Amino acid sequence: MDGGSGGGDPTRPRVGLFPCPFQGHLNPMFQLAHLLHRRGFPVTVFLPPSTPDSVAGHIPHFDFVPLPGRLLPRLDNQSDVAEAIAELNAQCEAPFREALCRIASAEGVACVIVDALLFRVQAAAKDAGVPALAMRTSSAACFNAFILYPLLLSRGYLSIQQESHLEDPIPELPPLRVKDLVRVDRSSSESLSRMLEQVVGAARTSSGIIFNTFDAVEAADLELLRQRLDGVPVFAVGPLCAVTGGAQCSLLAQDRRCMEWLDKQADRSVIYVSFGSLAVLEEEEFGEIARGLAQSGQAFLWVVRPGQVRAGVRLPNELIEVEERGMIVDWAPQQEVLGHPAVGGFWTHNGWNSTVESLVAGVPMLCSPRDYDQMGNARYVAHVWKVGLQMDFDNGPNMEDISQAVRMLMVDEAGHDARARAQHTKEEVTDCVRPGGSSSRAIESLVDHICSL
Ligand code: UDP
Repeated sequence: MDGGSGGGDPTRPRVGLFPCPFQGHLNPMFQLAHLLHRRGFPVTVFLPPSTPDSVAGHIPHFDFVPLPGRLLPRLDNQSDVAEAIAELNAQCEAPFREALCRIASAEGVACVIVDALLFRVQAAAKDAGVPALAMRTSSAACFNAFILYPLLLSRGYLSIQQESHLEDPIPELPPLRVKDLVRVDRSSSESLSRMLEQVVGAARTSSGIIFNTFDAVEAADLELLRQRLDGVPVFAVGPLCAVTGGAQCSLLAQDRRCMEWLDKQADRSVIYVSFGSLAVLEEEEFGEIARGLAQSGQAFLWVVRPGQVRAGVRLPNELIEVEERGMIVDWAPQQEVLGHPAVGGFWTHNGWNSTVESLVAGVPMLCSPRDYDQMGNARYVAHVWKVGLQMDFDNGPNMEDISQAVRMLMVDEAGHDARARAQHTKEEVTDCVRPGGSSSRAIESLVDHICSL
């Protein structure tokens, strides 16, 4: 774990951080903020519109600058994310530039670390005369796909007409297949294409790009990325949850009763089920998942966020009958849950944070990617690192398949092998973050780099 000298070293310059207001982006950005603060950097966090007020309340040793603006519509699997990101960029640019100029002229700011999706915010920092670094909260492999997006588009891999080719490999991006890329329809492909071009363009002209990843799992992709970004410094400082001992910034209240419930369960007997902060389930999907968990015979801890089921939560009788075997919570302390000895598997949507947190805890995964970068992450989990089993919802979730997959992960040979490899990866994570390990060295270079700007 990162040692550090404590906050407020008078020789350290101030660092600004600018996250996207989504859970999966806030957590790693705040972990990075804690890391830099422990290294003595005074920290200012700029909060875009739509960030809940509670975020600022928790952390007395950071300065917060909330920016004015309209609330963003809630993101879910049906949103046009590119439009939402474009809107966020447009809203934040001018108020951020103004706030940054004020702080920079009062006390100086060495640099601003900006979520890589906020390309106009990065440009605004440079306009204000402050160097901008990009922070990418997903994998290096995903950013390689962003860089190659125009090529993938021109070769037709991304169009929905390719349904019959979903299993085809993408020679430009091994080990991905067509089905592992973000699928887009015609109406959104243009806005996505424009957004990715701007995201990659901003990264190429940034003073560096920081990834919440690490050599043990992504050394080859990081190497390719460095070649493709041609001289832009790349810092693989992850997994930040391990480096910072799990600091986080939860937007929802965590129901800690599940930790007491886990204490009463046998070692490795519980499957933890969560599909992250954005995915929304249809009523039918929810019912199949509930019946599948009931039929699997396994103990389960299941996160069902308020509003996660479009039509509202109605538990089927099959699940009510086995209620004592499971627990459903609104929101869990996920990193602690994954570190609990009772948890033997994680059924996940493979958001990058959930994937990394599972690798850190050495817990094997059942992968049900739904959107965005999740298919690519799941491909690495199941086929490259082999620390999980993939279950696609291609034809909608079905209780028989779910029950079988849960048992396969929790009790069968295949799950056993994945668990052994997950334990091995956990040791490799520990090597990366110990003094002299690749992530520790990357943190040292990042600290030196910031001081040199
Ligand atoms: N998370 C949590 N409690 C929960 C479910 C999720 O704290 O009950 C956290 C999880 O630890 C992770 C983040 O929410 O850090 C979700 O990010 P991820 O990238 O996995 O998925 P996204 O929400 O962006 O789809």
